[in-house]
Amino acid sequence: MAADGMRRDRATSGTSMEEIAGKLATAGRILAREGHRDYTRGHVSIRLPGNPERFVMKSQRFGLEEVTADNVVIVDLSGEKVAGEGARHSEAFIHSEIYKARPEVHAVVHTHPIHAVALSALGKPIQPLGQPSTVFSSGLPVFADTIDLITDAARGAAVARCLGPHRAMLLKNHGIVTAGASIEEAVYFALVLEDACRLQLLVEAAGGAGSFFPAEEVAALGRRLASPAIAETTFAYLARCAAAEAP
Ligand SMILES: [Zn+2]
Repeated sequence: MAADGMRRDRATSGTSMEEIAGKLATAGRILAREGHRDYTRGHVSIRLPGNPERFVMKSQRFGLEEVTADNVVIVDLSGEKVAGEGARHSEAFIHSEIYKARPEVHAVVHTHPIHAVALSALGKPIQPLGQPSTVFSSGLPVFADTIDLITDAARGAAVARCLGPHRAMLLKNHGIVTAGASIEEAVYFALVLEDACRLQLLVEAAGGAGSFFPAEEVAALGRRLASPAIAETTFAYLARCAAAEAP
């Protein structure tokens, strides 16, 4: 049944499951290499090309960098697995509810990077302390309802509402969520968010920021740095770095 569903989705999408799994594996290797590894927790999804009501993510027992065509599952927008071997992640509702709310989003990342979790625990808003931080000058919502996992549709919908139209958000004492028009964008936003949080922790530990540049200048740089071209270039560069390190 599951294999039939996988074959049917493969046929209707025009993109092979191997290609989608390859993208997810590259994204996972990049994220793991850049500080987003938390054992088997954390996941990346891609909306299924040709079927916006479904998305693909790794199954639960594998790490970010272990994705293959054999361990991905297809999930529908109710959060139910419709094809693939292995259990879907319990937090699949983060993805399903964001895809429901944001038709322009084609990839979602949820990870638990340590600096972002630490900054969320401080309870202070993100500050424009460096170039990565400017990407979030248009807003970085914080979901503070629970430290627990997002394991049902109601909680997933609350996360999606909190994210609103933004690129990224913090889940307080838990992790991050990013949303992009492509997997390159979603991964790039996750990387620069963790960079921005790490920078802010360093500044906070040293006594806090002395001054800030004007908000309009910060916002203009943030718009430029959030461009799809920069996301694609960064993703391609880090994919080469990850491939060069592969055993
Ligand atoms: Zn989580």
